[in-house]
Amino acid sequence: MDLGIAGKWALVCGASKGLGLGCAEALAREGVNLVIVARTPDALQAAASQLIAIGTDGASAGGQKHAKPQVLAVAADITTPEGRAAAFGVAGGPGRDFDILVTNAGGPPTGDFRDWERDAWIRAVDANMLTPIELIRATVDGMAARGFGRIVNITSSAVKAPIDILGLSNGARSGLTGFVAGLARGSIAARGVTVNNLLPGKFDTDRLAATHQGAAAKTGKSVQEARLAQQAAIPARRFGTPQEFGAICAFLCSQQAGYITGQNILADGGAYPGTF
Ligand code: NAP
Repeated sequence: MDLGIAGKWALVCGASKGLGLGCAEALAREGVNLVIVARTPDALQAAASQLIAIGTDGASAGGQKHAKPQVLAVAADITTPEGRAAAFGVAGGPGRDFDILVTNAGGPPTGDFRDWERDAWIRAVDANMLTPIELIRATVDGMAARGFGRIVNITSSAVKAPIDILGLSNGARSGLTGFVAGLARGSIAARGVTVNNLLPGKFDTDRLAATHQGAAAKTGKSVQEARLAQQAAIPARRFGTPQEFGAICAFLCSQQAGYITGQNILADGGAYPGTF
């Protein structure tokens, strides 16, 4: 299926690795031009090379051949005003005229809420709530004026089923979720702009590997034992892949997904135990 978004411009944040890179890859396959952002220049350049190669082989998920997309890499911290200005100001990019926005940044640390002072909360709210809102604020009116926009926020299954040690994530991301629920149903809905949240359960990325190390240190198990124990608790008996995650993101960004807005799409291999 042709997703109908070849030639559009997307800003994909946190895109040198993991879920952000999975989203960037899936969009590149659809012929979408990309501005990708992450802090570490070497990893970002490696990701950009990978994305350019995808564009060159030209095969979308639906088998269509698209023109080779442009890929521009911006090494910056997206949670800072300077980082966001760099993403919007990159030479050859669309300025603030992105058609697609994928918000993403590292998740906050785990821990006990008794140990978190105000600063820890401010950092979490800044990275996982206010940064996406700032990025949306800078792009959404242009999308509405042009009659097309797709915004996907990478949040977490913790928004739907909170995890005790992830209090910072539960709290900050729920704030974003509430904001998006109102925004998506506002005046932009009739102007071709959709806003959705994509909620990862457990996906096989560096971040997940770090949580296995944490679980192993806490329980005295090996890292491999911690990994297997987590897999066994998922009905699908495996972790998701960034490619699977990226494919969902690309569909939410498609022309065909124009009637899906204000939703929280959970991808977790069946781990959430509720009927809805
Ligand atoms: P990851 O593999 O660690 O990748 C994170 C990416 O974001 C990297 O490219 C990283 O590059 C970039 N990044 C982090 N902080 C940034 C910042 N301030 N500015 C710009 N780029 C930044 O993580 P992931 O597993 O893909 O997770 C992505 C998001 O989904 C996180 O918020 C995570 O908490 C959430 N999540 C993941 C899972 C999972 O199972 N993987 C589950 C639930 C929620 P640099 O470090 O070089 O900047």
